[in-house]
Parts: sequence; structure tokens; C-alpha cells
Amino acid sequence: MSKSISTGYISTKINGIAVKANIKSHSGNYDNEAKRNVSYIVMHYTGNKDDTAMNNAKFFNTNDVNVSAHFFVDETNIYQSVELRDEAWHCGTKGKYYHSKCRNENSFAIEMTTAGNYKISAKTIENSAYLCAYLCEILNIKASEVDTYVLRHYDVTHKKCPAQMVDNADEWESFKATVKNILKSKEKKEVYRVRKSWEEEESQTGAFSVLDNAIAQAQEDKLNVYDSSGKEVYTYKVTTKAVTKGCKVKIKKGAKDYNGQKVASFVYNNVYKVDELNGKRAVLDKKGICTAFHIDNLIVQ
Ligand SMILES: [Zn+2]
Repeated sequence: MSKSISTGYISTKINGIAVKANIKSHSGNYDNEAKRNVSYIVMHYTGNKDDTAMNNAKFFNTNDVNVSAHFFVDETNIYQSVELRDEAWHCGTKGKYYHSKCRNENSFAIEMTTAGNYKISAKTIENSAYLCAYLCEILNIKASEVDTYVLRHYDVTHKKCPAQMVDNADEWESFKATVKNILKSKEKKEVYRVRKSWEEEESQTGAFSVLDNAIAQAQEDKLNVYDSSGKEVYTYKVTTKAVTKGCKVKIKKGAKDYNGQKVASFVYNNVYKVDELNGKRAVLDKKGICTAFHIDNLIVQ
């Protein structure tokens, strides 16, 4: 089981915490991807005496160390340092792999920070479990599949990480039990529908339990997202700017002029000024080509 992931930063609150994405990892620490297939979630710990999610995000922002994680979690903060579609470098090894399939390229990485003298605190574990459960939902991992797809770094390479969950297997089982319980409690979930408008049911291209998955679909289909009550929770934004008199434009490749006549190919390469605008009819460069185009065929520069 794997899911194609094109989502960048997650846009939901985790256990009441708004995930921060303002401190990005150094570009030398991960692989940039447009999308990739992901199956696994790998749990780590930072193993320091006393650190925070923010300090880790800052460290990986300023240091080119060929290592990264998607998330850093502490008791009060969660930082997303690498976009989900990008491959973080967290469980690779030049030595032996002890898991047949899980690698950097098909996994998400969560780093639990250790403020309590090399130990991950109960609150940090709780926040991490909620984040892990949310990522399970993105990957369609059910409670019954957590044991297969949620792993410790140790399970992949035998690195002693997260140490306390390797030394004490019960602690690892208890973490996974929390993740499973969160997933079970959300069985009766919200449904996010991707449509042109709430009323236009026939325009629906998908229905999702995870908002980020619905948004990804909506962006692809140029549609909006509605929750179960019909409230618009995501609005597709047309990014093209409006044509105004005096603005600079390029002409869409292959477009004919306002009267349907072909134009010389060189005009598509030039930028023109809109000298006259009347409804949808824009006259470009009166002293030069002096040709009218439909505004839908113009791209504002
Ligand atoms: Zn690790």
C-alpha cells in the first residue's frame, strides 16, 4: 500500500497545536520532489539532553548536514521543516537494512525532541501520537495497519532510536496503541467534498476524510472544498491578475486576435501595453502592432 503525495505543508491543528512551517530545512538536507509514493511513518528521537522543536528546526535551517526530518515535536510546538512531498533523509544507511521496504523515499519522519535529560516526555509523546495519527489518515493507514506502517528508526536500520522505545518495547507498543485509539475515535469522521459549489452536487470530483487530501484534489481540479455542513473551507484562487488599461501583457501562445484573425508568431514573445480597454476587448500597442485581443487571451505581466 502506498499513496501518491503532492501535499507540501499540512494545514491542520495537531492536538490543539498549530503546526509552524516558517523555519525550513536547508535545501542540502533533503530531496525536492513534485510528488512521491509514501507508505511508512518513521519515529525518531533527537537524543539530546535538553532541546526544543524550534531549536531543531533552526539547526537544520542553518546547517547543511545531509540529514532532515519532516517534523520536530516538543510539548508545546510542532515545526514542519520539510514538505511532505519532499524526501527527508532520516533512516538511510550504508550498512544493513533490517526492513525490506521502508526507506527515506517512501516514508515520513517525525523527530520527538528530548527536553527531559535524553528522555522524550509524556506530553511530547502524546503530541507525536496525534501527529502520527494525522499522517496515518493522509496515507489511509487504518488502526489495524499501524503495526505494519508505523515504525521506529530502529526497525529500519537497528539504530537505537528512539532509545527509550527500543530499550522498553512496552513503551513503543503503548505509543502505537495511542495512535490506534486516536484513529478509532475518528471513525465517524468529517467528510470534505470537492465541488464547484455546495449546491452543484454533480460537479463533485472527490470526497475525503482528510482536509489536506481534499485541498490537493481541489487545486488540481480548480474547485472548492466544503465540509459536511456545506461550509466552504477552501476556496480555489485564480492566480491570474485582471487586465486593466495601461497594464503590460503577453498574448497566450496561438491566440487569434479579437476578430478571429491569426497573428504573426513573434507577437507571442513580446510584452505589450494595453492602450485601450472596452469590456473584453483590449487594444494593444496603438503605435506598434495596434491589434485588439479578447482579454481572456492575455496574461498580465
Ligand atoms: Zn532516528
